[in-house]
Formats: sequence, structure tokens, C-alpha cells
Amino acid sequence: MKNLRLVARTSTKRSVVMVDNVAVGQDLVVIAGPCSVESEEQTMTTAQAVKDAGADMLRGGAFKPRTSPYSFQGLGLDGLKILARAKQATGLPIVTEVIDPRDVSWVAEFADVLQIGTRNMQNFALLKEVGRAGRPVLLKRGMYSTLEEWLNCAEYVMSEGNPDVVLCERGIRTFESYTRNTLDLSAVPAIKELTHLPIIVDPTHSTGRISLIGPMSMAAVAAGADGLIIEVHYNPREAQCDADQALTPDMFKDIMKQLRPMRAFMDSLPAQRSNPSNQVEVTE
Ligand code: PEP
Ligand code: MN
Repeated sequence: MKNLRLVARTSTKRSVVMVDNVAVGQDLVVIAGPCSVESEEQTMTTAQAVKDAGADMLRGGAFKPRTSPYSFQGLGLDGLKILARAKQATGLPIVTEVIDPRDVSWVAEFADVLQIGTRNMQNFALLKEVGRAGRPVLLKRGMYSTLEEWLNCAEYVMSEGNPDVVLCERGIRTFESYTRNTLDLSAVPAIKELTHLPIIVDPTHSTGRISLIGPMSMAAVAAGADGLIIEVHYNPREAQCDADQALTPDMFKDIMKQLRPMRAFMDSLPAQRSNPSNQVEVTE
């Protein structure tokens, strides 16, 4: 792949992106929380539940890129203030999406990680802006994008001076309609072959089905993912966004009980020389 000057892997060294004291690319990192911030009670309750289950960061959208302009668009600034209070209460760093280049600088005052969603992966003005925001960026794969297109978007962010990019495989559109998207797990070792950047997996938006989130989370860890981002809602039936794919706190807790043992098990196995996930040396 041409011109991936900053993104390309040139040695076995892998980048670690620090978010407060969470080391993405080193430990298995789990980001969890609601699709969108809906109220103080919903966010606080869910934040405490995911923290108690062992999550490392809290997710929640204050700006929602919705298919219909008539759907709930997020609480905006009020949502960000609720996230700030959830961080104060739990200590969990905040991952939140930004959808408009004009909002980046002030959203960055509330966000520990700026999320770029699948629909905005190739919004180059937005990528340049988050490249200058001084915050780590979670760059989701565009649902119609190749790995090369995705990595070029990471290059846009890095070329503005921001080295802290985390990639997120969140499923791509295929002819299959049982799942919301098709989770391309081969992207995980492929990305490790192509770049030094960490990669996490979103089993929620890729499958769109509660029953598949646990199995695909385990498979992602087995494939070498550096972490997961999972939607959890204290009362999924009431969720204003993505209600059908939100886990209850108890379901999330069950999955969490398996994830770290799975990672420890994978780490205990002898390395496969041909597997890029096994050829690593970590640097910050
Ligand atoms: C999200 O994580 O809230 C989201 C909208 O995801 P995606 O951009 O992957 O659809
Ligand atoms: Mn969602």
C-alpha cells in the first residue's frame, strides 16, 4: 500500500495509545456504554454497571449520525455534560463521537477519545480537525471501505500531528441480511500486518444481534484484537437508539467474565510464526 508514511508497519514494534491510565494496544481494553446519552439517570446507572463489570472506558453518543433526520439526534452539549459527570463518578475515560468539524475543538474538552463513526470515515475535513485536536481518535471502518481506504484515513489524522489513532472494525455491508453488517474479523490480523496502530472490534454494530455479541467478542480476542467496544443500556427496551442490540448490564457482565480469561489463554499458547499478532514488540 502506497503513501502510508506514518501508519505503515515498519517493524515488529506496536504503538500503544494511552487514555488516562488505560493502555490501548497493550492490555485488553473494553469500552462499554449506551449508544446515546439519553438522560442523567440512564448514563450514570449504565456507567456504574459497566464499571462494576470491569469496563475500562465509557462510551456514549451526544451527537448521533442517524439514517433519518427525524430520529433522535442526541443531546449535544447537555449530553457531554452528563458524560463529564459520569467520568467524575466512575473514573472511566469518555469515548464519544464527533460528527461535524466545527464541533471538534469544544467536544475535545469533554472527550478523552474522539470517535469517528463509520459514516464519516472519509470526511476528510473532520479527519484533519481531529488530527489537530490533541486527543486520541477512535477511527471506525467505513461500512463500504477497504482496508487501504481505512488506513489512508488514519494517515490523514496522523499527518496533522496526532499519533494517537485506534482503529475499530465495526462490520461491512454484504448481501447477508440476518446480521446488520458482516463482521470482518480477518481485518484484525490483516491490520496488524499492515500497521503498528492498535485495533479494536465492535461486535454490537457489526452483528446487530444480542445473541451474537458474546461469541463474536470471544472470536475477536482470539483473532488478536486489542479491545472491544460494546453497547450496554440499563433498560434496553427504553433505548432511543439501537434498542435491539443493547446488552443489559447482566449480559455484559457474563461476557466480561469470559473475555480476560480468553485473552490470558491466547497469551499462554505457543506463538504461530506466520501470525502477525504474534510478532509484536510493544512501544509507547
Ligand atoms: C456508534 O458507535 O455509536 C455508531 C454509530 O457506530 P457506527 O459508526 O459504527 O455505526
Ligand atoms: Mn449504536
